Amino acid sequence: MEDEPKLATAVKQGLEANDHTVSIAFTGEDGFFLATTQPFDLLIFDIMLPGRDGIEIMGSLRRLGKRTPILLLTSRDSLEDRVHGLDSGADDYLTKPFALSELQAHVRALGRRGSVESESLLRLEDLEIDRIRHTATRAGRPLDLTAREFELLEYLMLQGDRVVSREMLTREVWKESARHTPIDNVIDVQIARLRRKLDDPHPRKMLRTVRGVGFVLRPE
Ligand code: CA
Repeated sequence: MEDEPKLATAVKQGLEANDHTVSIAFTGEDGFFLATTQPFDLLIFDIMLPGRDGIEIMGSLRRLGKRTPILLLTSRDSLEDRVHGLDSGADDYLTKPFALSELQAHVRALGRRGSVESESLLRLEDLEIDRIRHTATRAGRPLDLTAREFELLEYLMLQGDRVVSREMLTREVWKESARHTPIDNVIDVQIARLRRKLDDPHPRKMLRTVRGVGFVLRPE
C-alpha cells in the first residue's frame, strides 16, 4: 500500500526479482479490500496514504483477527511514530529512504516469522489457541484445559464453520476406528466440560450442539 507510484513500482520490481508475487494498492481503501479478500504472506504499508492512513487500516485488520505480518514504511522517523506503529500492530518498520537490499532483509525476516505464526496460532474472535505451546485464552484470560479438552477445541477450531459429528471426533480426536455408545458418552462429557470453561464465564456463547448432527464453534 503506497500512494507514490515510483516507490511502489520500485518495491514491486525489487521483490519480484526475488521471486515474490506483489500486488500494489495506491489507496488505503484498495489496500484494505485486498488485505481482507486475498491471502498474503506479508503486508507492506506506507503510513501516509490518501483516505484511510496505514495505522488506522492496520488497527482494523488486527481487530478482524488478521495476523499477517505488517512492515510499515514511514518517512516520519520520530521515536513516537515508530512506537505508535508497533503498538497498533505492525511487526517492523523501515524509514524512507531505504535501500532495496535493506527492504529485502526485512521481508526475509518477517516471512520466516509469518510462516511459524500462521501455523501455530488459531483465532476466533476473542478465543485464541497456540498449537505449539498448547495454551488457549479467551478475552485474554487463560483457559485451564486438559490435554483432551485442548485437542477437542483445536480440532473444532480447525474445522471452522463446519459441524463436527461424533463419528469425526471418535476418529480424529479419540483415534478409535468404530463409534460405540461408551465413546459417545465420553465425548458428551468432554464437550460439557469444554463448554463450561470456554463459554460459562462469557455472555457470548461459542460452542453449540447441533441436535442430531454434532458440534460447531460458532459465536452467537
Ligand atoms: Ca504516502
